[in-house]
Amino acid sequence: MANTTLMMIKPDGIENGHIGNILEKVTSSGFKIKALKLTQLTLADAEHFYAVHNERPFFGELVAFMTRGPIVAAILEKDNAVSDFRALIGATNPAEAAEGTIRKLYATSMGENAVHGSDSDENAAIEAAFHFATRERF
Ligand code: GDP
Repeated sequence: MANTTLMMIKPDGIENGHIGNILEKVTSSGFKIKALKLTQLTLADAEHFYAVHNERPFFGELVAFMTRGPIVAAILEKDNAVSDFRALIGATNPAEAAEGTIRKLYATSMGENAVHGSDSDENAAIEAAFHFATRERF
């Protein structure tokens, strides 16, 4: 699984009309789309997905944000997918994100930062299984 990562376009990215822009940036940066869907997280889904942050002060805000509207989930493939995608999306806080990164271009705040990218190969596999059945992967 070292060549795949899991992306989500978060509710703000969709509300602000950036699905097409973000997918274009992803594919023109050399990532292949291996699975793709529009879906919406339930509260239980978001609490599970972000369980690592459940002691953090922003946890309630994070799950409310992530469940307030649809998201796009995708499995992306490229050599060094996890680290290359983290570089493409930029720092968590868009104010600190490098020029040309997805968060610099399309995110509005630390919380509402347009995209998610897996932080390890192990989590990429877990997150891909969370979102996609085998028959939805190509
Ligand atoms: P990431 O790996 O860059 O997405 O960052 P983290 O794993 O540290 O945090 C997960 C997500 O929680 C971030 O992408 C933000 O959406 C959210 N988040 C992180 N820090 C804060 C914060 O201080 N305030 C709020 N509201 N959300 C935050």
